[in-house]
Amino acid sequence: MTDTQRSVVLKRRPTGEPAPEHFEIIENAVPKPGAGQVLTRTIWLSIDPYMRGRLKDVQSYSPPVQIGEVMTGETIGEVIASADPGFVAGDIVRGSRGWQSHSISPAANLMKLDRHAAPLSAHLGVLGMPGTTAYSGMKDIGQPKAGETVVISAASGAVGSVAGQIAKRAGARVVGVAGGPDKCLWVQESLGFDACIDHRVGNLDAALRDECPNGIDVYFENVGGALQHAVFAQLNPFARVVMCGMVAQYNETDMPPGPNLGFVVGKRVRIEGLIVSDKPERFAEWRALASPWVKEGSLHYRETVLPGLENAPEALAGLLRGDNFGKMLVKVGADPA
Ligand code: NDP
Repeated sequence: MTDTQRSVVLKRRPTGEPAPEHFEIIENAVPKPGAGQVLTRTIWLSIDPYMRGRLKDVQSYSPPVQIGEVMTGETIGEVIASADPGFVAGDIVRGSRGWQSHSISPAANLMKLDRHAAPLSAHLGVLGMPGTTAYSGMKDIGQPKAGETVVISAASGAVGSVAGQIAKRAGARVVGVAGGPDKCLWVQESLGFDACIDHRVGNLDAALRDECPNGIDVYFENVGGALQHAVFAQLNPFARVVMCGMVAQYNETDMPPGPNLGFVVGKRVRIEGLIVSDKPERFAEWRALASPWVKEGSLHYRETVLPGLENAPEALAGLLRGDNFGKMLVKVGADPA
């Protein structure tokens, strides 16, 4: 085989915003699969906010990436060679194969995809981990009901866009919060949210009071910071808060002081954290539920695509700045679908 395997490895840990200089590309000969292994070429690489956490030398729910190690990441790939009876060249697979052009994986770590079921990239976004996060957060914690008011932060993003559409299907009034007029327009006109607040302009407290006249029953938290403060003050008794992420502070070195949670007792508010992989059964459940919606076009999504593996570091930096509109992806190789 004459191809070269290109891999993006961590060169040094960023303080604040990650940038291309914190990574380097190394090249090796494309490896050959051993027994039970599969060689794939990468087509799509998912860029996700959790990757910022992997760059910090702290133990979290997953270990950090070490200096010199290939960055972790979910991918869609095509099988080039297989030493496992379950896969043949040409199969399309999803797996955690990292920021690489080619990779060797144990067959057990790959999931075969039907290349005609949906656009391949959708398996990293609306039908993949972010979509499942939205579903799991709403099903297990948020539990929106008809007539309730639901607020979704990062509403045009991969998770938020799906979370809000799920709440709309449950009959709730859904108010998104997003950065900029274009994102807010899409959230209302294409996703069908009842309102969308631009967090870059105006007064968040006043805007929330205007759009949520009956208070807030469910908050799907993707962002943290000033927005969290404003939402918490307007939560109703028995409100549920899905603590999905706080992307506004992932580049911070010192964590800001927390809110005063005294109101949680009096209002009997439920605030619960979520890690999507804790309930692996939700992935298949969500795929079965959402695939027909994607096919018929009733579940909407958007993607921002950067071409070329070498642009993966810039894609991560841009995601944390809010440059993405919908799911952030890197197109690493030709898509055969
Ligand atoms: P998004 O597609 O939503 O992209 C991140 C968005 O966050 C940006 O586009 C930007 O949108 C917004 N943002 C960034 N910085 C700020 C800021 N300072 N203030 C306000 N908004 C900001 O990412 P995902 O949908 O992939 O992830 C959303 C959240 O869900 C993240 O917190 C992530 O960590 C979390 N998550 C958690 C999982 C779990 O298992 N718990 C699994 C997957 C994701 P805008 O321009 O609108 O401000």
